[in-house]
Amino acid sequence: MLVQQILKSKATEGVFTVKPGSSVADAASVLSNNRIGSVVISATGKSAEGILSERDIVRELGKRGPACMSDKVDDMMTRNLVTCSCGDKADDILEQMTEGRFRHMPVIKEGEMVGLITIGDVVKARLSELSMEKEALEGMIMGH
Ligand code: AMP
Repeated sequence: MLVQQILKSKATEGVFTVKPGSSVADAASVLSNNRIGSVVISATGKSAEGILSERDIVRELGKRGPACMSDKVDDMMTRNLVTCSCGDKADDILEQMTEGRFRHMPVIKEGEMVGLITIGDVVKARLSELSMEKEALEGMIMGH
């Protein structure tokens, strides 16, 4: 299974972004309003300058308290983004996410961000693929 197949199977298209210079409170509103776990920091909506996850915010909240909510996202985001492309294999993405301990990956095509997949998207897609394989094998064994 490839990343492009997972992207197609997602209910929502596009990526939630905030612009560099936005406050952490603004980013938290985007997370909360859309019930998502991370937001990409992007000047154009197509570039990916960094990513800010609920974990980054909670970590700073725990360390410094609510004062961190008025910080700029630029100071809290992860800049060394790991991205993938449409032709990457789901299993490889799962391994990278597990080893790197992150759950979100922007998808880049020809230099532009075209989507974002989560570890949940990959697991869901793999489970449905396994279930189809199981049915096909059962069908072969039973002679259907
Ligand atoms: P997550 O598990 O995705 O909520 O994020 C855990 C940590 O990894 C946070 O510090 C994020 O900023 C960071 N992170 C999330 N996604 C990525 C990614 N694709 N590349 C690099 N770091 C990431």
